[in-house]
Amino acid sequence: MLGYQDRDIGDSPDDWFELVHPDDRERLRSMIDANLAGSITPIEHRYRIRHRDGSYRWMLARAEMLRDDAGRVYRIVGRQTDVHGENESDTDPRIGGLHDPLTKLPNRTVLTDRLRLALARARRDPGRPFALLFFDVDRFKNVNDSLGHLTGDRLLRAIADRVQAACRPADTVARFGGDEFVIIVEDITDVRGATAAAERILGEFRVPFDLDGLEVFASVSIGIAVWKPSYERPEDLLRDSDTAMYRAKANGRNTFVVFDEDMHARVVATLRLETDLRRAIARNEFRVYYQPIVSMTVGRITGFEALVRWQHPERDLLLPLSFIGVAEEMGAIIQIDRFVAEEACRQLRAWQNKYRHNPPLNVSVNISGTQFLQPDLVQQVDHILRKTGLYGRSLTIEVTESVLMENAQYASAMLDQLRALDIGISIDDFGTGYSSLAYLRRFKIDTLKIDYSFVSRMLADEESSQIVKTITTLAGNLGKQTVAEGVETRSQFEALRELGVDRAQGIYISPAIPAEEAEELLARTVREDNHLRRILHDRLKTSAPTGDSVVG
Ligand code: C2E
Ligand code: MG
Ligand code: MG
Repeated sequence: MLGYQDRDIGDSPDDWFELVHPDDRERLRSMIDANLAGSITPIEHRYRIRHRDGSYRWMLARAEMLRDDAGRVYRIVGRQTDVHGENESDTDPRIGGLHDPLTKLPNRTVLTDRLRLALARARRDPGRPFALLFFDVDRFKNVNDSLGHLTGDRLLRAIADRVQAACRPADTVARFGGDEFVIIVEDITDVRGATAAAERILGEFRVPFDLDGLEVFASVSIGIAVWKPSYERPEDLLRDSDTAMYRAKANGRNTFVVFDEDMHARVVATLRLETDLRRAIARNEFRVYYQPIVSMTVGRITGFEALVRWQHPERDLLLPLSFIGVAEEMGAIIQIDRFVAEEACRQLRAWQNKYRHNPPLNVSVNISGTQFLQPDLVQQVDHILRKTGLYGRSLTIEVTESVLMENAQYASAMLDQLRALDIGISIDDFGTGYSSLAYLRRFKIDTLKIDYSFVSRMLADEESSQIVKTITTLAGNLGKQTVAEGVETRSQFEALRELGVDRAQGIYISPAIPAEEAEELLARTVREDNHLRRILHDRLKTSAPTGDSVVG
């Protein structure tokens, strides 16, 4: 079949895999692996394999595992059929055809050619531009993982059919790879031609797909790039429509987004930020700032919240909001959080030794969603505690409401383990997400942090004030503490105290400050009964008052 003599191919499976086209090898392997691991769907797969003459030929393999009584696979039986030439143009040995064997749509090679043509045409006749629609199937991985590759393949075929039916004959629908498709919408007058096409495609997905009796709903996210004179190569359009597609995903999927220049600027800025962040980790450019948290009733500093800052070599000190999002996306947040946690624990231990507080000072560290979902979080925290000598009860971990509620089962187990180390748990930005009351009761949480947005509006707006009141009552009933964040004025402070909020942080008391300043603050206040009074008094002496914030 392949032109080889008996001895040309060895008898280890790897000798055979060697001949399979590199682009097809992984998939073939994973299918066989899935079967070895117990999947009972027979293997049915098209792939390319190298003929002795060096060309690749399309084969269809159908195979089944034979198992012994213990269920172990002892043999694979099956057959390989030469299906080369079934697609009219898959005879080019180098690229293995112009059509995607699964969907029968034109493949990337054809697409690139047609894009080149379209670019040339538009250059000649700029009044009749075209657009590129780039889309992929939302959460396609879920389909593959839960229903299997075969069903995934069927879905892709069905999608290809529907999308093609929704397009005009002059348009090119191509499979770009995986679950990605591209459409060249020809001959439009302006962007509306492209958005209308996108609307039509999205409409095709309102009805579920029938995959041999199985009903599956799917949706797609579409990015659109409309031709403009500065586009020179097919890649330019592909890049921009891809960028727009990611926007569409970020906007909640099942929608389309048209690329614009701002988007490009944002992509470039994000790329630069990513590069800078990598360097920042390597060169230790992060600093930990400390914001005191005081008890409302007796004005004692009960501890600090550790907040990261980035000492960028060419820019001012950067606040987390300008880089945390990107750091989360690229995974760098893990290293940042670990650094902050370790540094904060070390610092706190040193302060506890030097300045005796009763109960001992506490430090809160923020944990990102990514970090919280690390299976070894507990071991990591335990390691940091051992290394720094800080007691678990002196550490509080702040997790946002949405991270906890969106991963409720997992979160519950994780919190139990953290509590076993005596660590405090605080829900950050409380009130801004959705909490289930049942979970709030079940979760081992100590503190609710009332979000800055409510605190800042509570005096001006009755609703925010009611929300603060409700959170405080809820916390009281559930036996949890409250901390108000972002307290900026004395009147806010007083109002919060009257509502029975336990502790506060905010610039009324102190902004987040470097470790040396925080230490100086501790030195000044440690002998006082009321730390807060001392802080406010000292500030009155040294700086001009701003608003009513420091008028004590
Ligand atoms: P957060 O945990 O809710 O922290 C409180 C934020 O409010 C801090 O902003 C703090 O500086 C700010 N703030 C404090 N007092 C006032 C005030 O009186 N008025 C106003 N307007 N703001 C005040 P920051 O330091 O910029 O941090 C922003 C967010 O970044 C934090 O919100 C936290 O979610 C995140 N973050 C900070 N450090 C880390 C870290 O080490 N790891 C992770 N994962 N996230 C961090
Ligand atoms: Mg926080
Ligand atoms: Mg917060």
